[in-house]
Amino acid sequence: MSDTIFGKIVDGEIPADIVYEDADLIAFRDLHPQAPTHILVIPRKPIPTLNDAATEDAELLGKLLLAVAKIAAQEGLAEQGYRTVINCNAGAGQTVYHLHLHLIGGRPLQWPPG
Ligand code: 5GP
Repeated sequence: MSDTIFGKIVDGEIPADIVYEDADLIAFRDLHPQAPTHILVIPRKPIPTLNDAATEDAELLGKLLLAVAKIAAQEGLAEQGYRTVINCNAGAGQTVYHLHLHLIGGRPLQWPPG
Protein backbone atom coordinates (compact mmCIF):
# COMPACT_ATOMS: atom_id res chain seq x y z
CA MET A 1 0.00 0.00 0.00
CA SER A 2 3.11 2.26 0.19
CA ASP A 3 3.19 3.27 -3.47
CA THR A 4 2.49 6.94 -2.67
CA ILE A 5 3.28 9.27 0.22
CA PHE A 6 -0.34 8.85 1.38
CA GLY A 7 0.05 5.07 1.29
CA LYS A 8 3.00 5.52 3.62
CA ILE A 9 0.83 7.63 5.95
CA VAL A 10 -1.84 4.89 5.89
CA ASP A 11 0.83 2.34 6.78
CA GLY A 12 2.27 4.56 9.53
CA GLU A 13 5.63 4.69 7.76
CA ILE A 14 5.69 8.49 7.79
CA PRO A 15 4.07 10.79 10.35
CA ALA A 16 1.02 12.95 9.80
CA ASP A 17 -1.09 15.23 11.97
CA ILE A 18 -4.12 12.91 12.02
CA VAL A 19 -7.44 14.51 13.00
CA TYR A 20 -9.75 11.56 12.31
CA GLU A 21 -9.47 7.89 11.49
CA ASP A 22 -11.66 4.83 11.32
CA ALA A 23 -11.54 1.41 9.69
CA ASP A 24 -11.86 2.85 6.17
CA LEU A 25 -10.54 6.43 6.26
CA ILE A 26 -7.78 8.68 7.59
CA ALA A 27 -7.85 12.49 7.73
CA PHE A 28 -4.75 14.57 8.38
CA ARG A 29 -3.61 18.18 8.03
CA ASP A 30 -2.07 19.21 4.72
CA LEU A 31 1.67 19.85 4.91
CA HIS A 32 1.25 23.06 2.87
CA PRO A 33 -2.10 24.50 4.01
CA GLN A 34 -3.92 26.82 1.65
CA ALA A 35 -6.24 28.07 4.40
CA PRO A 36 -6.34 28.10 8.23
CA THR A 37 -8.02 24.69 8.02
CA HIS A 38 -6.76 22.40 5.25
CA ILE A 39 -7.33 18.72 5.86
CA LEU A 40 -6.95 15.78 3.49
CA VAL A 41 -9.42 12.93 3.86
CA ILE A 42 -8.38 9.68 2.22
CA PRO A 43 -9.62 6.12 2.00
CA ARG A 44 -7.17 3.56 3.35
CA LYS A 45 -7.74 1.73 0.07
CA PRO A 46 -5.26 3.09 -2.52
CA ILE A 47 -7.57 4.28 -5.31
CA PRO A 48 -5.30 6.43 -7.56
CA THR A 49 -7.87 8.91 -8.89
CA LEU A 50 -11.62 9.43 -8.79
CA ASN A 51 -11.66 7.92 -12.29
CA ASP A 52 -10.48 4.64 -10.76
CA ALA A 53 -13.30 4.40 -8.22
CA ALA A 54 -15.59 1.48 -9.01
CA THR A 55 -19.20 0.66 -8.21
CA GLU A 56 -17.93 -1.46 -5.32
CA ASP A 57 -16.44 1.74 -3.82
CA ALA A 58 -19.82 3.49 -3.58
CA GLU A 59 -20.22 2.85 0.14
CA LEU A 60 -16.63 3.92 0.81
CA LEU A 61 -17.12 7.20 -1.07
CA GLY A 62 -20.33 7.83 0.84
CA LYS A 63 -18.51 7.25 4.12
CA LEU A 64 -15.81 9.66 2.99
CA LEU A 65 -18.32 12.48 2.42
CA LEU A 66 -20.06 11.83 5.73
CA ALA A 67 -16.70 11.87 7.52
CA VAL A 68 -15.86 15.22 5.91
CA ALA A 69 -18.99 16.79 7.37
CA LYS A 70 -18.13 15.34 10.78
CA ILE A 71 -14.56 16.65 10.60
CA ALA A 72 -15.76 20.08 9.44
CA ALA A 73 -18.02 20.26 12.49
CA GLN A 74 -15.12 19.12 14.69
CA GLU A 75 -13.05 21.98 13.22
CA GLY A 76 -15.83 24.50 13.97
CA LEU A 77 -16.60 25.08 10.28
CA ALA A 78 -20.13 23.71 9.98
CA GLU A 79 -21.88 27.08 10.25
CA GLN A 80 -19.40 29.41 8.54
CA GLY A 81 -18.91 26.99 5.69
CA TYR A 82 -16.09 25.15 4.02
CA ARG A 83 -15.08 23.80 0.64
CA THR A 84 -14.35 20.26 -0.51
CA VAL A 85 -12.15 19.61 -3.53
CA ILE A 86 -11.04 16.47 -5.33
CA ASN A 87 -8.39 17.17 -7.95
CA CYS A 88 -8.50 14.49 -10.65
CA ASN A 89 -5.38 14.08 -12.75
CA ALA A 90 -2.58 16.52 -13.51
CA GLY A 91 -4.72 18.95 -15.48
CA ALA A 92 -6.68 19.65 -12.30
CA GLY A 93 -3.57 19.83 -10.14
CA GLN A 94 -3.48 16.31 -8.69
CA THR A 95 0.02 15.53 -7.47
CA VAL A 96 -0.51 12.52 -5.20
CA TYR A 97 -2.13 9.52 -6.88
CA HIS A 98 -4.02 8.20 -3.88
CA LEU A 99 -7.58 9.54 -3.91
CA HIS A 100 -7.99 12.39 -1.43
CA LEU A 101 -10.52 15.05 -0.69
CA HIS A 102 -9.34 18.50 0.42
CA LEU A 103 -11.37 20.08 3.22
CA ILE A 104 -10.61 23.81 3.21
CA GLY A 105 -11.97 26.55 5.43
CA GLY A 106 -11.36 29.23 8.00
CA ARG A 107 -11.11 32.11 5.54
CA PRO A 108 -13.35 33.64 2.85
CA LEU A 109 -13.29 31.41 -0.25
CA GLN A 110 -13.68 32.81 -3.75
CA TRP A 111 -15.82 31.31 -6.50
CA PRO A 112 -14.98 30.16 -9.09
CA PRO A 113 -11.75 28.60 -7.84
CA GLY A 114 -8.65 29.04 -9.97
P1 5GP B 1 -3.24 17.27 -4.84
O1 5GP B 1 -2.44 18.38 -5.46
O2 5GP B 1 -2.77 15.91 -5.28
O3 5GP B 1 -4.73 17.42 -4.98
O4 5GP B 1 -3.00 17.39 -3.27
C1 5GP B 1 -1.92 16.82 -2.64
C2 5GP B 1 -1.77 17.54 -1.33
O5 5GP B 1 -0.94 16.77 -0.50
C3 5GP B 1 -1.11 18.93 -1.43
O6 5GP B 1 -1.99 19.91 -0.92
C4 5GP B 1 0.16 18.79 -0.61
O7 5GP B 1 0.46 19.96 0.12
C5 5GP B 1 -0.14 17.61 0.28
N1 5GP B 1 1.00 16.82 0.68
C6 5GP B 1 2.00 16.36 -0.13
N2 5GP B 1 2.85 15.60 0.56
C7 5GP B 1 2.38 15.57 1.83
C8 5GP B 1 2.84 14.92 3.02
O8 5GP B 1 3.85 14.23 3.06
N3 5GP B 1 2.11 15.13 4.15
C9 5GP B 1 0.97 15.87 4.16
N4 5GP B 1 0.31 16.00 5.34
N5 5GP B 1 0.52 16.50 3.06
C10 5GP B 1 1.22 16.34 1.91
